[in-house]
Amino acid sequence: MKVYNTLTKKKEEFVPLVPGKVSMYVCGPTVYNFIHIGNARPMIVFDTVRRYMEHKGYEVNYVSNFTDVDDKIIAKAIEEGVSAQEISERYIAECKKDMAAMNVLPATTHPLATMEIGGMIEMISTLIEKGFAYDVNGTVYFRTRKFDEYGKLSHKNLDDLRAGNRSLLVSGEDQKEDPLDFVLWKPKKEGEPAWESPWSAGRPGWHIECSVMSKKYLGEEIDIHAGGEDLVFPHHENEIAQSECCNGKDFAKYWLHNAFLNIDNRKMSKSLGNFFTVREIGEKYDLQVLRFFMLSAHYRSPLNFSADLMEASKTSLERIITAVDNLKFLVGNAEDKELSLEEKESLTQAAAFETKFDEAMDDDFNTADAISAIFEMVKYVNTNISGENSKSFIQTVLDKMVNLCDVLGIIVDKKEEILAEDIEKMIEDRQAARKAKDFKKADEIRDALLAKGIVLEDTREGVKWKKA
Ligand SMILES: [Zn+2]
Repeated sequence: MKVYNTLTKKKEEFVPLVPGKVSMYVCGPTVYNFIHIGNARPMIVFDTVRRYMEHKGYEVNYVSNFTDVDDKIIAKAIEEGVSAQEISERYIAECKKDMAAMNVLPATTHPLATMEIGGMIEMISTLIEKGFAYDVNGTVYFRTRKFDEYGKLSHKNLDDLRAGNRSLLVSGEDQKEDPLDFVLWKPKKEGEPAWESPWSAGRPGWHIECSVMSKKYLGEEIDIHAGGEDLVFPHHENEIAQSECCNGKDFAKYWLHNAFLNIDNRKMSKSLGNFFTVREIGEKYDLQVLRFFMLSAHYRSPLNFSADLMEASKTSLERIITAVDNLKFLVGNAEDKELSLEEKESLTQAAAFETKFDEAMDDDFNTADAISAIFEMVKYVNTNISGENSKSFIQTVLDKMVNLCDVLGIIVDKKEEILAEDIEKMIEDRQAARKAKDFKKADEIRDALLAKGIVLEDTREGVKWKKA
């Protein structure tokens, strides 16, 4: 299996530190709102990497954090007049719902930054003792010049960066020894959550969180550290500096980064009005469609999100689901007889699709080609399998199809899930029926919705609905 390593800018053979085991850390979201579809890409991509590793027989220890103390969380808490903890707890719960709907497996551990402050104080103290960090009036900075390898992940020209940052130095930061030095600990401002430390009552910087949580749950050296490409610099560069200077060991063997997600060929931003949460997409589509869409491109290629491409993904996914559904129907009616000679030969053909799938995934997780292999199998199913075949033959092909989809985390069960827009349409039809005094039809529509778990409520402002 080959993986592209940002550190070496090469595809390398994957060799884990401990045979048969994989330790993997994926930087998680800062929880101050519903996650957006840009957050969803690394979640889906690296969940698929994990699933494939497990499919290959590795035991994967997968750690992904929640950053639950941050300026944005504090700002939101002040805005709502509640505690920062209330905000982070709320959006962690919401994030987990979205993850489940995208069929992203829960991590082995989901550590919370605020639960690991002790470890952070310990690491910062070690860095100060070793001369890699310094305290100025309660703020602790990392001394980047002291770490010779600083910049090795992002392959940036540090002198240019220094020059650029020097002119951008903002007030309060001029106490730093070097423009590239970054904060490990900062004193609290009025009204902010804070923890006691040897330097000031305050809170940790963002980068130290991941170094500490990765060390605690996976050890000083790990196999894979992953995240979006926007995290390469400074976040991951700083994590390397902290961890390697503290532990005196290489931090992660392989660094994996997914490319950006654009919306209608533009960068997603609130000001452009092209900002979508996963929840909003979930109102229009089954989130399996979003997962399928995310995997339709290689994770290191930029991916463009548009309504057309989502529709195309929906149609493609339906083709797979229909093929699986047909196989299920056939297997239920097929005769229990010995495999024929043709069937035995045919199974060798079906096995070739599995090989193709594995080859694609072995080549730096090329999910786009892996999906092509699944479509070849769909074509094979549609042209080669009928009610004349034996039960065990059809069952074998069905299992192969479901297994491959499962490696990608794609659920191929036909779902009778109802979407918000369909509900709205049915409510409109019911209103029209009532207006036409067709109460029988109106009641039928209400009952049909109820059968799908949707309860209607007639209010003065109109009809409202909720899930029962
Ligand atoms: Zn991180």
